[in-house]
Amino acid sequence: MSERDDFSEATKKIIASRAGYLCSFLGCGQLTLGPSNESSTSISKNGMACHISAASPGRGSRRYNFEMSIEERTHANNGIWMCYDHGKLIDDDESRFTTDILLKWKEIAEQTAKIMQERKCTYEDAISIYNFSNLITDKISFNNLGHETEIIGNTLKDCCTEISWGKKSENITRDYLIELARNAFIHGSATEIELEILEDKIILIDNGNEFNPKKLLESKKIRGGFIAAETFQNNDCNLVATYKRDYNKNIYSISKIRKAEDVESLTPCNLRITYDDFRKGTLDFSIFEHCNEIFVILPNFLTPSDIGLIINLRDELLKLEKQINIVYYDISEHLVKWIIDENPYWRIIKI
Ligand SMILES: [Zn+2]
Repeated sequence: MSERDDFSEATKKIIASRAGYLCSFLGCGQLTLGPSNESSTSISKNGMACHISAASPGRGSRRYNFEMSIEERTHANNGIWMCYDHGKLIDDDESRFTTDILLKWKEIAEQTAKIMQERKCTYEDAISIYNFSNLITDKISFNNLGHETEIIGNTLKDCCTEISWGKKSENITRDYLIELARNAFIHGSATEIELEILEDKIILIDNGNEFNPKKLLESKKIRGGFIAAETFQNNDCNLVATYKRDYNKNIYSISKIRKAEDVESLTPCNLRITYDDFRKGTLDFSIFEHCNEIFVILPNFLTPSDIGLIINLRDELLKLEKQINIVYYDISEHLVKWIIDENPYWRIIKI
């Protein structure tokens, strides 16, 4: 008798059907069922029900969870439908394809199939309709260069960065993170890089010498690090990066700003201003003494007659001599243009 807690044929069919017989590997979506030329009743299959938590413990098993009962392990909830190629890939690499990632991919695959069925659309259209607001959480680390491009690139892709943040944002973020990692190993004597993906931000940590990423921009030479940092700095995707030195480590956080809360989650160096704050005139910027840059979140619907309020704000901010980021939601174009014209060194972020 097999010691593996295999799926029954009925369970495999449920797993496959709920994914529309499409591969659940993020971005694949291959159809895994069709007619065979052998006979008029033969079927060609190239899909497999893979265990999210492995069917048996021991060598070669992936993601085995000792706390699961046999019923849980053989339940459709523990299965994800894959084409043969991707099934083999996820079963061979437990460190890359974690339980959290596969559970999220299963959810995405089922929702994508549902959208295709309901809206009569293609896989690509369904993926773009699906609301990927959050990244899939994950944490990896590595101790030398050689595979940094692949490791960082795959981690971002597996965690839905392309679908959640968009292709352009993923590319800009990936290039920047890889250059930071290379810089840390080559010039900073780092011995470890940690990459952590949270729902709303991506954090890269190295244990090398102190390095503020703004130094990449000061380089006059056209080098990879300079180009990646400059592209990041001038991005029009609402990508924002912060830096801090803590516990003898460099900590770089990247977020895509879509709402005021994203700014507040990214950095404590933020100030959400209300009309009352303006009127009282009691804004206290001294709390930002240790910040490299400050994010000022303006109230919604400022009007032209509120320009005076912004001028007061500007005079206070200028005294700080820090990089200023103005975050706004809905302000008339000509007023935004006025802010930009008056303050060309401020970064303006529309949410
Ligand atoms: Zn596939």
